[in-house]
Order: sequence, then C-alpha cells, then structure tokens
Amino acid sequence: MIYTNFISKILLVFLVFFPMLSQAEQDVAVAPQPLVFTQAFQASLNPWQVLQYLQDGNRRFMEGKMLHRDYDSELKTAAKKQYPGAVILSCIDSRTPPELIFDQGIGDMMAIRIAGNIVNNDILGSMEFAAHVIGVKLIAVIGHTRCGAVDKACQDVKLGHATALLEKIQPAVQQAKKDFPAGNCQNQKFVNEIAKKNVLLVMHQIKDSSPIIRKLITEGKIGIVGGIQDIETSKVVFLDDYSLMPARHADIK
Ligand SMILES: [Zn+2]
Repeated sequence: MIYTNFISKILLVFLVFFPMLSQAEQDVAVAPQPLVFTQAFQASLNPWQVLQYLQDGNRRFMEGKMLHRDYDSELKTAAKKQYPGAVILSCIDSRTPPELIFDQGIGDMMAIRIAGNIVNNDILGSMEFAAHVIGVKLIAVIGHTRCGAVDKACQDVKLGHATALLEKIQPAVQQAKKDFPAGNCQNQKFVNEIAKKNVLLVMHQIKDSSPIIRKLITEGKIGIVGGIQDIETSKVVFLDDYSLMPARHADIK
C-alpha cells in the first residue's frame, strides 16, 4: 500500500512537471546529429537547436568522444549540395580549428577565419551568402584566450597590412581600458577581457552593418551568438548576450 502510494506520488510529480519541462526545452530539443546535414534536417532546425549541436559537439571534443566519421562518405553525401547549420567566425590561431572543437563534419558548418575574428565587408558578404543563399540558422563569433592578435592590438603594434586589421580590435581595447583602468597588456586576464569585448562588439557589428542579416534575425530565421574558447581546455563558453537570437517559445508572453 505504501509502495503504491509512493508510485502514485512519483507519477503525479512526473505528470505535473513533464509538460513544463518539455515546453521550456522544446526549442532546444535536438535529435541525434546526422553525420551530414541534409536539406530536410537543415529546414527542421531553429537557431537555438543549432547552438545546442555546437555545445554538444564541443562537449564530445573535450571528452574525447567525437563522432566516428567517414570523410569519403560524408563528401559523397554533401557533394551535390550543402545544407550546413552554422557559420562560425573564428581566429586563424592554429589551436582553434572550429570543425574540430565543435566536432562537426564535412557539410555541417561554414568556417570563416581571420586574425582576431574581426569583421569587414568581405566577411559580411560571406555571411550574407551563408545566411540568405545557403540557409544557415546561426552565426557564431568565437574568440579565444591567449589571442596573439588581441594582444598585439592591446600593444597598438604596427605591422604592414596587419596594422589596419589590428585597428579593428581597438574599440574593444578602448572599452576594456575604460572598464579596467588599471589593466595592462602584460596581464593575460586583461587581454582575455579584450577578446571577450571584441566578440560582443563584432556580434552587434554584424547585425548593425547588414540589413540582410538584420531582416533574417527579425524574422526569427537566424541568430547570432558569441563565445570564447579556452585554449587550455578547448571549452567554448558562450557569452551571456542572446539579444540577437529569436525569442524562445517559452519566453513569449
Ligand atoms: Zn587569435
């Protein structure tokens, strides 16, 4: 009798809370990731789900449990047309390969890499192509700790063509110096803080500079997130600015 009572209570708790959980989590509920993103799979995704795939992939990478991949087979599947879920803007640093750290295969994501993960008109054009033509659902700007480009921008280094590139990181340097007046470029924590501010500024720069991407955000078809990869662990921590993501259904009043 006591046992039956206990079971009834468990059942009651399950019935009361399960609908709440499924409602709150429905936007990020994801099926197992296929080895190659297909047209139907891409069409079924929303920006939050793509973000979840990146987070899951990063966890697999950190745990050494990457998906077993047959690149020859993936190439054959993706050869006719691609249906990737995300475009990643990240640094050229040799320790930050986005496909590896997010455990994504051929045809799954588009990668744009440039020192300091800055944005310019050509990169914006590539993103507009990825978003409007290819149909990606998420733009992720991924900076990293111990970034040489950010470090050199902090020191206001002038170096050939890199001078103009490093100037694009200056707004983040100035913001960090304002927030942390005692900060100096020899302090790695301060440099990492600049990298974080740079990611946040670039995210909003993408939205502010591209009417095409802005329209897709307004329509809920695409979102922009930012993250920082810890070079020591490869863990990507996504930054607490989801203002460029569509509202989750659970948040809509
Ligand atoms: Zn870097």
